[in-house]
Amino acid sequence: MRINFNVPPYTGHEFEYIKECVENQKICGDGPYTAKDNEWIEKKTGCAKALLTTSCTHATEMSAILCDIKEGDEVIMPSYTFVSTANAFVLRGAKVVFVDIRPDTMNIDENLIEAAITPKTRAIVPVHYAGVGCEMDTIMDIAKRHNLFVIEDAAQGVMATYKGKALGAIGDFGNYSFHETKNYSMGEGGALLMRDETYVDNAIIIREKGTNRTLYKLGKVDKYSWIMPGSSFLPSDMNAAYLYAQLQMAEEINNDRMDHWNRYYEALRPLQEKGLIELPYVPEHCTHNAHMFYIKCKDFEERKGLIDHLLANDILPASHYVPLHSSKAGLIYSQFHGEDKYTTKESERLLRLPMYYKLTNDDLDEVVMRVKEYYKFT
Ligand SMILES: *Cc1c(COP(=O)(O)O)cnc(C)c1O
Repeated sequence: MRINFNVPPYTGHEFEYIKECVENQKICGDGPYTAKDNEWIEKKTGCAKALLTTSCTHATEMSAILCDIKEGDEVIMPSYTFVSTANAFVLRGAKVVFVDIRPDTMNIDENLIEAAITPKTRAIVPVHYAGVGCEMDTIMDIAKRHNLFVIEDAAQGVMATYKGKALGAIGDFGNYSFHETKNYSMGEGGALLMRDETYVDNAIIIREKGTNRTLYKLGKVDKYSWIMPGSSFLPSDMNAAYLYAQLQMAEEINNDRMDHWNRYYEALRPLQEKGLIELPYVPEHCTHNAHMFYIKCKDFEERKGLIDHLLANDILPASHYVPLHSSKAGLIYSQFHGEDKYTTKESERLLRLPMYYKLTNDDLDEVVMRVKEYYKFT
């Protein structure tokens, strides 16, 4: 009877495709399903090259290697994000510089970025929270004028666009996640998107342990060898097969999620109109993907009460990121530039409601009813 926060997506074809991998003895990386997934991403987003990876975390680490991020470099990002956004750069010795978010979208405030740039700054990392695009025109303009890389954390942004452009294909690099909590899944997995050809050859080598094994497999070199530092960033083709079943049905999954999102929005709109809660904001020029549905309570205490009320009724909601600058590692490896006007305050009142492919209207209506009950809204 319990209503879970997330249920991993499953379309019905996953087993059949995985079985094919096993029967054909093609279970390692870069098999036929990986190729299909890469091609799907390239066609959908218009990026020059997409490479399936073992996670979005690893795609971000690859991006940091490709940008040649080194000790002493600085990278600008929001503090309201997942640890991997920062870890990828900290692992290379960089200092992470956080700037505040916008309270409306929970995305990095594009107007605060320029003041945080120093001669050591190498990259900007916008995070498209909830699949709603950051202000990419402004960010790309700043990056161009200061000669910085832009690495989009588009973990939540598959199938979403900013001014018609796919999230993840606007900056130099884009990172997708196919973790089981995301809209499309392969259990654990992700992808590195490259907008143009510049870094493709190096990315292919870095992903294959720093070797030219890919060229060897294509018969272009006699034997493969160590070319540059790299790691093992390519997933098994069995995971890629699971993902392909979902990419084939991407529109249907997206539409299903959008229906839930819109149903939540309409049902909870009266509470927003009475000033009881706030609902998500999607700028006119952004098409989102219903990655999540969140509401904002008045404050931390009120949110705690609502969480307890939902849990008592077998509904599992979820808060989200503890701002990285206030975490144990954040105190060592990062610095918050300017004032934390919204990051902490907004993060403490945001609550995510159950959202997944095939969530039923009955369950969704039950969640809405319990939220209304908490606010004594009739
Ligand atoms: C999920 C997520 C990640 C990490 O994705 P993995 O595939 O689990 O490594 C990174 N950044 C953001 C914003 C995410 O939501």
